Amino acid sequence: MSRVFNFSAGPAVLPEAVLERAREELMDWQGTGMSVMEMSHRGKAFMSIAARAEADLRELMAIPDDYSVLFLQGGASSQFAMVPINLLRGKNKADYINTGAWSKKAIAEARRYCTVNVAASDESNNFTGVPAQSEWQLDKDAAYLHYTPNETIGGVEFPFLPQAGDVPLVADMSSSILSRPIDVTNYGVIYAGAQKNIGPAGLTVVIIRKDLMGQTLEGMPSMFDYAIHDKNDSMYNTPPTYGWYLAGLVFDWLKQNGGLQAMADINARKAGKLYAAIDGSEFYANPVVPECRSIMNVPFTLANPELDKPFLEEAEKLGLTTLKGHRSVGGMRASIYNAMPEEGIDALVAFMADFEKRNG
Ligand code: PMP
Repeated sequence: MSRVFNFSAGPAVLPEAVLERAREELMDWQGTGMSVMEMSHRGKAFMSIAARAEADLRELMAIPDDYSVLFLQGGASSQFAMVPINLLRGKNKADYINTGAWSKKAIAEARRYCTVNVAASDESNNFTGVPAQSEWQLDKDAAYLHYTPNETIGGVEFPFLPQAGDVPLVADMSSSILSRPIDVTNYGVIYAGAQKNIGPAGLTVVIIRKDLMGQTLEGMPSMFDYAIHDKNDSMYNTPPTYGWYLAGLVFDWLKQNGGLQAMADINARKAGKLYAAIDGSEFYANPVVPECRSIMNVPFTLANPELDKPFLEEAEKLGLTTLKGHRSVGGMRASIYNAMPEEGIDALVAFMADFEKRNG
C-alpha cells in the first residue's frame, strides 16, 4: 500500500491514525460484534459514540451550553437555505458579504426566501481580498449577517471578525472549521460540511445559539427546521451514523495532537512554507492580497498555462495528487487541511522548485 499526498479541496485527506482506527474497528466495534455502520442509531453503542463526538467537539471549540450542536445531512448547500428559513424570524431582509464563489451561492439561495442586501463585495477585484468593514453598508432591518470566513475556491480568508452589531453573525466555516481556535460566542450560527476538516462527506455540523431556534418560516419541511433536529438530538430521522463516528475519531485525534491552537501553529507554518515558495519565484503566482490569504486552500498559477498539464502529470507521478485548480479559475490549488502532513507541503515545495528549474 502506498498513500499519496492528496491536496483535494474536499472530500479531502483524513488523518492516517483515524483511518487505521476505523479499520481496526470496522468489523467489530468494541466487542459489539458489529460495525458502526450496522448499528441502530438508537442503540446504546451508537448513542455513546454520538455523545462522545459531541462532547469532544464542544471541548475542542469551547462551545458554551447555550449553543446546540447538530449533526445533520444535506451539506453546507442545505444550510444556504436553512439559515434564512430559520433565522429571518419575522423579518424579510438579511445582510451578506460577497467574497467569492461560495458566498455567491449562499446569496442566491437566500434570495429565494428574503431580500438580500449585499453589504460588501470583492467581485470588482476578482475576489482577491476582503472589503474593510468600514466600507460595509449593513441594513438596519437585516435579520442576520452572513459571511464565508474562508472561500475554498479563491483561497481568501477573513483576517478579521465581522462586527454584526445586534444581529446574529452566521458563518459558513466549511473549509476553515477546526483550523484554529475561534470564540464561538461571537456567532449565532456556524455551519460546515464535514468533508474537509471534520470527516467524510454526508455529515454537516451546525453550531447554533439556542435562542435563535423555533421561529422557522411557515410551511417549510420539518427536515429544514433546526428546532426539530435539536429537540430530537439530531435523531429526528436516521442520522449519517458512520460519518458521525468518523468525525468523533477526528475530534479525538485533534485532542491527542494538542487541540486547535496546535493545529493553528502547524497550519500557519505549512501555509507559510507554500506561500514563501510561490512568492519567492517569478514562475508561480497567487493573486490574493497577503493579509487575506487562506491557510487551508492555496491557489496558484504557473507563468505559462501550457505547463499546467505537465506540472499536474509530473506531480501525480510523485504522489502529489488533486492539485488541479477549480474548473472556474484554472491553475492549481493545494488544499492543506489539518490532516495534510507537513511532509506533504515539503514534498510539494521541493517539486515546485525542481519543476521551475527545468521549465522556468
Ligand atoms: N461552502 C464552502 C465554503 C464550501 O467549500 C463548500 C464545498 N466545497 C460548500 C459551501 C458546499 O458544501 P456541500 O458540498 O457540503 O454542500
